[in-house]
Order: sequence, then C-alpha cells, then structure tokens
Amino acid sequence: MTAPANQLRATPPAGHALNVEKIRAEFPILHQQVHGKPLVYLDNAATSQKPRDVIDAISRYYERDNANIHRGVHALSERATEAYEAARCAAQNFLGAALPSEIIFVRGTTEAINLVAQTFGRTRVGAGDEVIVTTMEHHSNIVPWQMLCGEKGAKLRVAPISDRGELDLEEFQKLLGPKTRLVALTHVSNALGTINPIREIVRMAHDRNVPVLVDGAQAVPHLKVDVRDLGCDFYAFSGHKVYGPTGIGVLYGKSDLLAAMPPYQGGGDMISSVTFEKTTYNKVPFKFEAGTPDVAGAIGLGAAFAYVNGLGIEKIGAHEHALLAHATEAVSAIPGVRLIGTAPQKAGVLSFLIDDIHPHDIGTILDQEGIAIRTGHHCSEPVMHRFGIPATARASFALYNTFQEVDALVRGIAKVREVFA
Ligand code: PLP
Repeated sequence: MTAPANQLRATPPAGHALNVEKIRAEFPILHQQVHGKPLVYLDNAATSQKPRDVIDAISRYYERDNANIHRGVHALSERATEAYEAARCAAQNFLGAALPSEIIFVRGTTEAINLVAQTFGRTRVGAGDEVIVTTMEHHSNIVPWQMLCGEKGAKLRVAPISDRGELDLEEFQKLLGPKTRLVALTHVSNALGTINPIREIVRMAHDRNVPVLVDGAQAVPHLKVDVRDLGCDFYAFSGHKVYGPTGIGVLYGKSDLLAAMPPYQGGGDMISSVTFEKTTYNKVPFKFEAGTPDVAGAIGLGAAFAYVNGLGIEKIGAHEHALLAHATEAVSAIPGVRLIGTAPQKAGVLSFLIDDIHPHDIGTILDQEGIAIRTGHHCSEPVMHRFGIPATARASFALYNTFQEVDALVRGIAKVREVFA
C-alpha cells in the first residue's frame, strides 16, 4: 500500500486521484473559520469528520425508524432491527469476515479489546502464562492485558521497536514460546504511523498455535483490511475514526473462538432464557451484546462504510500517502524539526518535534492559525519513553485533506519557530 520512504510520491498514481473538492463539499464541518482562519483539520487520527451521508442516515433513523430492536413485533421495531442487522452485514463485508455473526458491535476499539481480555483472556490465560504486546501500542491495547496479567499472575511481554519505529521481528519471534497465550498488537501505530506486517506476524504466532488480536483503529480508515487474508483471530476498530459516529465500533472474532468464549456483560438480549436457578445464553453475536445497543451508531457506521466503499479505499490510501509524502518532505526540510516515526511503511501520521519547543506550545500556536493537530503522548506513553521524549506534535491526514492544507501546516510551523526565535 505504502511505498518505501525513498520512493515516497507526492502525487497519487494515475487513476488514483480523488476529487477532493467535491468530497470536501460533503463534509459540513470543514467549512468554517477558526480564530478568523479557514479550518485546517489535521487531527484525523484522534477522530475523523463525518460526511453528510452519515449525518443524514442517523437523522433519518431517528425521524422515521427509531425503536428498540430484536424484541418488538411492530413495524418500527422491525425496521430498526433490519437496519441494525444490515449494518452488521456491511461491517462483515468491510472486513471480509466469513459470517455476520463474527461481527460484534461494541463502543469502540477500547471496549472490543476489554471484551476479549475479560472473556477469552480470563479463560485462556493462567498463572505463569504470557501475553505479548509491542512497544508501539495505544494504552487501550496495554492496560486491559496488564489488568488481566495482574489478576492471573501472568506476564506481559513487550516486543521492542527500532529507532525508525518499526517492530523488531526477530525479537518478537524470540518472545513467542510455550507460555504465550495471545499476541495483541496494532496494525498501524497512532503515534508513529508505522504499518505492521500483520500477515507475517500472524503466521509466526500461528506456527506456535498462538492466537492474534489486531488493534485496527488506525488501519481501517487507510488500508484495505481483509481479516481472512490477514488470518488474525480478532480484529478491533472504532467507527469514529473511519468517518462514522462516536460510540460504536466493531470486534471481529473467528466464529469457533467466539462460540467458546463466555459472555462479557449480563443483561437483556444476551440470554436465551432466565430463571433464578439458571440462565442460558443467546447465540453469537448476541451473547456479547447485552442491553440496548447503539442502534443509530451502527446505522451511521453502515453509512460510513458505504461512503468509503463508494470512493474506494485504495484511492483514499493513495491520496493520503501522497499527502504524507509531501508533508514529510516539506516538514523535515524545516530547520530544527525532528520526525518521530520514520518507518518505510507508514499511514497518514506525521509526528514531529521542533527544537526544544514543547509540543503543547506548537499546538496552541497552530490553533491560532486555524490548524488543528494533536499534541501529547497520544495515549502511547511507552512510545514516548522509547524515544526519550515527553510528547510529540502530530498531524494526521484524511481523505478530505489537501496539499494546500499541508502547505498551511508548513507555514504554521515556520510561524512557531519565529515566535520562539
Ligand atoms: N488503538 C489505537 C491505535 C488508537 O489510535 C485508538 C484511539 O486513538 C484506540 C486504540 C482507542 O480507540 P477508542 O478510544 O475509539 O476506543
């Protein structure tokens, strides 16, 4: 998907251009001024903006179909159930899963990983066992495993990364052993942009009969993901980073694993019968969806998948790659700039420092220019420790960003340097 650094292209290959002007017209939020300047939204790794199609799908649902699902016999409930289950099929197709029942709707990546830790993890990980993560994980793919390991007397092992921010595959392989019960790693690093070679990692883990959970929060907006091609056992992502609403996300799990896992939460919809003596559980995926779900969120997410599919994820990825190439070249040419995360395979993220200026100051000055970036540890403190820094400034790109916006960022950085000169 992404060319090596020495082959970075600042223009998408022929046939891969997006009509960005037309696309921008479909995102109402982009057309505003911030501090008297046109908004330049470069905080897409935190959350992406929503196209009119997604906003309309949610409004339409509340205006016409709103009802609780799976339980009603009336027309609205049937319509709401149908739309919710259609969104599940859309998620199945988006990820290339074999069955709709392999798709569990959750609040987001964080809840998906906690679900696996508390169900699969609690039944499979015991005293002395090991769970492998990597240095480049988001806190949501560290803390649930740390909690599990603490409870069970198991050990969290951490695969190291290089100075460029690439996973050290040799060291990773050495960590895989008879005590390993699970590998949990990110597909794309939110702090560095590194794309991990998931297929290869899954093959290494499966050679040892170790299942793999992939945190896909930063991958699905940029790359074609096919869970059967990757071979992973679990795949988690958040709707709000892929142009869908907040409060909804997806956990994919292989059906045999899901069937064997105990439920996560107890309540309505996850049961098939309840007495005070005994409860029997519903089948997968409903066993994992206790209580009234985010019906509107799932429908909005379905609309987001349709939007992304309509443009083509390969075209989106190529456009963002061209933006990243342009930004990498222009920003790294500015004196005093240090890029954090220079792996050859990267998606959509440019983390940087300028001299010894605190990233929060960079973010505040850029905000005055109407430019929204993220500053801080990006919920990846171990990455910051690895590079011996407290924080970075991070610009992250989406399908609606333009080369002119990258140029505005470059001018903004020049301004930051002037302020601190
Ligand atoms: N994993 C990665 C790589 C992320 O970038 C994020 C959010 O930034 C998460 C997990 C957590 O996602 P959420 O807060 O939507 O659950």
